[in-house]
Amino acid sequence: MLSVNNAETIILNLVQPLDNQRDVEIVDLLAVDNRILASCVTSQLDFPHWDNSAMDGYAVRYEDVRDASEEKPSVLEIIEEIPAGCQPECTIKVGQAARIFTGAVMPNGADTVVMQERTQREDNRVSILAAPKPHEFLRYKASYYQAGSQLLPAGIKINAPEIAVLAAAQCNQLSVYRKLRVAILSTGNELVTPDKPLQPGQIVDSNQYALASLVKQMGAEPLMLGIVADEPETLNQAIAHAISTADIILSSGGVSVGDYDYVEQILESLGGKIHIRAVAMKPGKPLTVATFLQKLYFGLPGNPASALVTFWRFVQPAIKKLSGIADGWKPEFLKAISRNELRSDGKRETYIWGKLLLVDGVYEFHPAGGNQSSGNLINLAQTNGLAVIKEGQKLISVGEEIEVLFI
Ligand code: AMP
Ligand code: MG
Repeated sequence: MLSVNNAETIILNLVQPLDNQRDVEIVDLLAVDNRILASCVTSQLDFPHWDNSAMDGYAVRYEDVRDASEEKPSVLEIIEEIPAGCQPECTIKVGQAARIFTGAVMPNGADTVVMQERTQREDNRVSILAAPKPHEFLRYKASYYQAGSQLLPAGIKINAPEIAVLAAAQCNQLSVYRKLRVAILSTGNELVTPDKPLQPGQIVDSNQYALASLVKQMGAEPLMLGIVADEPETLNQAIAHAISTADIILSSGGVSVGDYDYVEQILESLGGKIHIRAVAMKPGKPLTVATFLQKLYFGLPGNPASALVTFWRFVQPAIKKLSGIADGWKPEFLKAISRNELRSDGKRETYIWGKLLLVDGVYEFHPAGGNQSSGNLINLAQTNGLAVIKEGQKLISVGEEIEVLFI
């Protein structure tokens, strides 16, 4: 059976990222959160825009105060007060200083700021009680960023730090990749929506909601196409519709070996190319991956834990690569110490869900209590990591190091 790593390679090789000319749109700064930059950004502004003070204090000539001390203060005449937002008018000459505040523009002639705490003021005179370092507390124009150079590269996700940079650089309109459309459908005669009273034997469709939440978190647009019965003609129509409207299609259920598992044969009959039929992992063995030209189809297993684990392990990297993110598509594994014994049959790579905690600088993994069955979604709640037991390994002892997929 195909290994997890080989499946990941096959899937990532199938993904052609969005085109940085065709697949872009211009959005306002206010709407740019969580989007991916399609072109690099430059600014015509220097940062800082002007030489300015990093402290409340006095703008001085270093020469005048280099020998100042508490015993022998340098006494300077204050010739101007410069609040933030004003343009200074005077030039500081020998024996002079300007009262200055944080962020205010440095006056000509001054080259150093002495912080207020190291001074004593009397009327229009200030005593400097300690020698500063040359250029101390002065932020020079363009020392953080020079106008015209690259401010942000293409292919990064925009979150609060980038928004701060873009706002400061007055970039009010940005070119970003269009949002990916991800169709989600749940297959199964037994499924009902959460608002319907349960009839005997029925199961609530939880996958649709969980997958939509994950897709949304990734900045893509979920298209919730609902529940589809295990009936070839109905499934055929629903899948054909999903393929025609989305960039990626996620179905859950119907990819195992049961009599009602029709998804794979329908994908083939619709002209899809099947690349993966099963993966040596637990949970998640019955995973189908197909393409319809550029479009990726993931037939995820129906069991709730299997659907989520296969999403985190395979769908998430694929969505990242497709979205235009320049790198870092692969899942992030952290090294952690297992706080419990973990077991596997050793035949397939096994994913155990639980909690990652940082304790005294070391990550600890605590598996979720109760049943780690792929059908049990209850103990998935409040987990944030999947510990990986490699193929061939049957036991992880307490205190042993393991890799954990951070989710
Ligand atoms: P299947 O892969 O279709 O054989 O489904 C495996 C198990 O997962 C069955 O017990 C299904 O009832 C359950 N299941 C399938 N789809 C869903 C879903 N959308 N939400 C919750 N459970 C599901
Ligand atoms: Mg089913």
